[in-house]
Amino acid sequence: MKFYNTINRKKEDFKPIKDGQVKLYTCGPTVYNYAHIGNFRAYIFEDLLRRALEFSGYNVYQVMNITDIDDKTIKRSIQDNVSLEELTDKYTDAFFEDLDKLNILKAHEYPRATKFVKEIIEMIETLEKKGYAYKADDGSVFFRVSKFSDYGKLANLNPNEMKIGGRVDNDEYEKEEIRDFALWKGYKVEDGPVSWESPWGKGRPGWHIECSVMSTHYLGSSFDIHCGGVDNIFPHHENEIAQSKCALDDKFVNYWLHNEHLLVENQKMSKSLGNFFTIRDVLSKGYKPEAIRYVLISSHYRQKLNFTLSRLDDAQKAINKLRELWRRLHNVNPEVEIKNEEVEKFNKMILNDFKLSLEDDLNISEALGALFTWVNKIFILLDSSSISYLESRECIKVLSNVDLVLGVIENKNELSEKMRNLIAERETARENKNWEESDRIRDLLKGMGVLIEDTPEGTIWKFK
Ligand code: AMP
Ligand code: ZN
Repeated sequence: MKFYNTINRKKEDFKPIKDGQVKLYTCGPTVYNYAHIGNFRAYIFEDLLRRALEFSGYNVYQVMNITDIDDKTIKRSIQDNVSLEELTDKYTDAFFEDLDKLNILKAHEYPRATKFVKEIIEMIETLEKKGYAYKADDGSVFFRVSKFSDYGKLANLNPNEMKIGGRVDNDEYEKEEIRDFALWKGYKVEDGPVSWESPWGKGRPGWHIECSVMSTHYLGSSFDIHCGGVDNIFPHHENEIAQSKCALDDKFVNYWLHNEHLLVENQKMSKSLGNFFTIRDVLSKGYKPEAIRYVLISSHYRQKLNFTLSRLDDAQKAINKLRELWRRLHNVNPEVEIKNEEVEKFNKMILNDFKLSLEDDLNISEALGALFTWVNKIFILLDSSSISYLESRECIKVLSNVDLVLGVIENKNELSEKMRNLIAERETARENKNWEESDRIRDLLKGMGVLIEDTPEGTIWKFK
């Protein structure tokens, strides 16, 4: 496989540290509010990456952190007059519900920062002993950037442009240098009841050190892939590299992959700009979660994506087409036996093309292009009844296989039990030539958003 590695600014062949195994760390949500679909662009990209790696035969071990302690979680819990734990539990649960709706594979671990304070303090102590960290008068501890010569490599910062040496005597920070960043934040009254004891007095961890500690705790001092949105490159990931390399004297991360932003009217979708939709907002407008998934998965992760509701309509159409093919293939009559060598050839080609496209830095547009070319060919063969029962099963396998990556065709919530029962009742009515009853049920289903069609292969349904 090939991936664009942010740190080397080029596409590179992917070689995991251990053959066949991939250790993957993905920066997770700050749980002070519902995640918006911009955040989910990052999580869907990481889901696509994980599924594509698995599709190519790798065994992936994924860790995603939950940031449950930072300025935002503290501020919100005080505002809402609830404990930090109560607030972050609520939004962590909501996050898991949204992951489920979007059919995102669960990471193997979801460590929370508040459960790693001891390990965080230990890493800061190591940095302090090695001369990479110093305590300021307010009880905060800062990382001494001037001591780490590789600083700025990930974000491609020009060392001449970085302010070096300017001492900042500012009440709030008391840093030696403007670019030094907090590893530990000394307690302030605004933090209310939230604090931990440490060798530097009462305080709490900085955000960046949380990820250095939790990633290396589970994945070791050197692992394969680390992801996040492009806004994480600097300062978050740059600082993670500085802390982890200086504390652990190892390579830390081999491949850095970053997704571009989801935009609304050409601006980044973000909570601070107020131009965001949550998954809940979009679903309450009547859109389906798989349409959101498809919009987010179907454009290349390194391109900016402008979010519009009409994209959701187009996505639903594409999914409906795949599902219609799925159902028509299931309805091929077991007695049809013609042998069509073309089908076998098409099937081999599509799986190969789909895999190769994804292996090229997750080229999803090319993968979907190949898929829909195949879909159209199979529809044409179905229309002329030129697919045998056995061949239809092979085509279903192809769809199941591509859906291991796309995750939009087979949907556990697709038909409610009531709808399924109505379809069965209509079948019985038709067998009994009770056309009035069969039409009544058809209209009832239409009212529920399900269209019924009687085709040469039997009755099929699709969403309106
Ligand atoms: P946060 O909860 O702000 O730490 O963000 C969680 C993840 O979402 C990070 O990987 C961010 O880079 C990513 N992210 C935030 N906003 C957007 C956006 N508009 N488009 C794509 N990714 C985003
Ligand atoms: Zn992180």
